[in-house]
Amino acid sequence: MDDIRSSCQRNICSTYARLPVLFVRGQGCRLWDENGTEYLDFLAGIAVCNLGHSHPEIAQVLCDQAKQLIHVSNLFFTEPQVKLAAELTRLSFADKVFFGNSGAEANEAAIKLARKYSQDRHGPGRFHVISMRGSFHGRTLATLSATGQEKVHKGFEPLVEGFTFVDFNSVDAVQAALTEHTCAVLVEPIQGEGGINLPKPGYLADLKVLCKRHDLLLIFDEVQVGMGRTGTLFAYEQEGVTPDIMTLAKALGNGLPVGAMLASDEVAQAFAPGTHATTFGGTPLVTSVALRVLQLISQPDFLKRVRQNGGYLKQCLADLQSRHASLIKDVRGRGLIVGMELDRPGQQFVEACLKRGVIINCTHDTVLRMVPPLIVERRDIDRLVSVLDEVFQEETA
Ligand SMILES: *Cc1c(COP(=O)(O)O)cnc(C)c1O
Repeated sequence: MDDIRSSCQRNICSTYARLPVLFVRGQGCRLWDENGTEYLDFLAGIAVCNLGHSHPEIAQVLCDQAKQLIHVSNLFFTEPQVKLAAELTRLSFADKVFFGNSGAEANEAAIKLARKYSQDRHGPGRFHVISMRGSFHGRTLATLSATGQEKVHKGFEPLVEGFTFVDFNSVDAVQAALTEHTCAVLVEPIQGEGGINLPKPGYLADLKVLCKRHDLLLIFDEVQVGMGRTGTLFAYEQEGVTPDIMTLAKALGNGLPVGAMLASDEVAQAFAPGTHATTFGGTPLVTSVALRVLQLISQPDFLKRVRQNGGYLKQCLADLQSRHASLIKDVRGRGLIVGMELDRPGQQFVEACLKRGVIINCTHDTVLRMVPPLIVERRDIDRLVSVLDEVFQEETA
């Protein structure tokens, strides 16, 4: 461990504040470090391993495809990519998909498509995107510029032109920020990195009405909350509203890097040949895996279990809140993305849980985030809650 740590410090850019654990193996909701110590995983690689670690069917598909064909470029046809696109469009509002390799890349594609579509229709100058304070859309130059958090911008100025921020959950604020240059509204259906912030009832549907009235595109960033996380395949399904563009990544490959931008036919036609591309987009390797992920997660029984266990998790955490009312200010979430807002910084509790073999994380300084693999069981939830109870008791003793 000490060797690895010093070698890491020597040779890897120090962009991450890593916790002192070296993982070597995973299975379901469990991880093991190099000493054989077992951990219960309530983070799932930040909402990525939704089917858990080392899922046997995923491992099988991955191995089979690796032996068959890994990559040939998008100069040719490959079957897994086409099958995945067909399944994604069958299961969503969308007609067309563009494949990339990450959430940031999916959002880059969405921003580029919105600009292209709007400038094709309305002429140059219509390229501004309204996004939300507290949002997170990625770390490339355009997506960090779209992100409504100063700490993400700092030191990288000048930012990409054309992004305006308004408060999340206010349609009036979007209305007030509109100009003749606006082409799209970009929003996470539930803010993840911003502290697990849920939309008010009707907020997203009202945004859609506003967008329609002004011929703006509504873009949902479902990179974190898509793929079953909230108990439906996509988070927008619970809002009675469809976007014009949606982005996916994190859990789409259960750990393999794959992102996707989905759009209606009418909007997607703005991406003519030569307008956008990426070398690795939709390789047979990642798309064959993503197809199996999608087939497993979209099963109604699977999603029902997510809703049930999500309800149980939220209930247990609400009970915990009543026992530690001075410390816990709020418990909120949907399905298996749940945040617990504290009255003080949360990182010390993340570390205290880790010492007891439970992995959670902290977002937005004071919000403990629980995003376990979607296959989590009640006894796992019980374990998490008893460990949290212990660390909170210790804090207030
Ligand atoms: C993680 C995340 C991204 C960025 O995804 P990367 O794969 O890290 O580029 C974008 N949007 C949201 C909502 C995310 O949670």
